[in-house]
Amino acid sequence: MPDLMIRGGVLWGRPEPYDLLVADGRIAALGPEASAAAPDADVVDAAGRLVLPGLVDAHCHLDKTLWGMPWVSHLAGDALSDRIRHDRERRAALGVPHVGRMTELLTTMNEFGTTAVRTHTDVDPDVGLRGVEAVVEVAERMHHRVDVQQVAFPQHGLLTSPGTADLLEAAAGLGVEVVGGIDPAGIDGDPVRHLNVVFGLADRHGLMVDIHLHDPGTLGAWELDLVVERTRALDLAGRVAVSHAYAFAELDRARQERTAGAMAEAGVALVTAAVYSFPVPPVRLMAEAGVTLACGHDGIRDLWGPYGTGDMLDRSMHLAYRSTFRRDDDIELALRAATTGGARLLGRPDPGWYIGAPGDLVIVDAGSAAQAVVERPRDRLVVKAGRVVAGAHGRGDGEVVRLG
Ligand SMILES: [Zn+2]
Repeated sequence: MPDLMIRGGVLWGRPEPYDLLVADGRIAALGPEASAAAPDADVVDAAGRLVLPGLVDAHCHLDKTLWGMPWVSHLAGDALSDRIRHDRERRAALGVPHVGRMTELLTTMNEFGTTAVRTHTDVDPDVGLRGVEAVVEVAERMHHRVDVQQVAFPQHGLLTSPGTADLLEAAAGLGVEVVGGIDPAGIDGDPVRHLNVVFGLADRHGLMVDIHLHDPGTLGAWELDLVVERTRALDLAGRVAVSHAYAFAELDRARQERTAGAMAEAGVALVTAAVYSFPVPPVRLMAEAGVTLACGHDGIRDLWGPYGTGDMLDRSMHLAYRSTFRRDDDIELALRAATTGGARLLGRPDPGWYIGAPGDLVIVDAGSAAQAVVERPRDRLVVKAGRVVAGAHGRGDGEVVRLG
């Protein structure tokens, strides 16, 4: 594969245009050295456009998607239990999970600039491991464009859905890297046992942990504390995340600061989707406390809801907007969740402008990162491991790749 030179792009955080060389999938040179290093490289003429790290969707559900199907009307009631029932009752008739639809969705996400995802796959006695196997197939098909990290997820309960724990155990042998959990109290009714099963699996199989926590108020906050405690006890710093954690947003400021401090110290990350009117964690406070904050879509066009575009700039905009962010540096915190935060959550190297940084990039027609988040320009060129994978018009050995 030839090296790739990106000429004259404005690298996020640096004022002047830079040349950047990617070789063997990683950033190999920056500035004037880049121009001299590889005279035969393919060239992208960024012409002052903004260069961002590849976007990371840190929480999606590829296996559930109806992407590409004719419109499917949402028929569920308003409660979480209604949506769980709706999902169970209709998914088989609609052919969920579906490898073709997942591939189409992931292609769309990649065209928007996403180069890595963490996807939560349903594991339960009805669907068994079919979803996990389907996602493995999609990940193989798409490996040159997007890295897929899979969570084995007990959507319908772990203790309340007998047989699920054994299936999670079996999923560990199928390339799943993360074990999921869901509302240890609200859905499973026994937080201690639920967390013992999840963390036990993580410990035995060397898995990461990512727990959906919708439980509100003091109950949810207590469960968050339990997660922090177990992470410390098992020495899993940097390998545990809580998704949503609505309870965190509901705490008073002093308790938020204490909990965020404990999460940062234990190495527990938080993932938000900033969807609907569900509570969003205080993004600035999390950054100041040093908590890894990542962002994702949650469901995209599925039986849980009809929304979602696959665009992580769109998701970053929602996170910034829901946080009432107006200043550039604040808006950039939302974008950080969709880049650095997501990369850390997935256990990947930090993105950035240093030699050896991942060669996953997206070039957008914007003058600044804040502008990119607010305007979400459609014209994008996506680079995965030093290879142009989307948005190019005209490419080839030594040829200039044009955007748009
Ligand atoms: Zn979810």
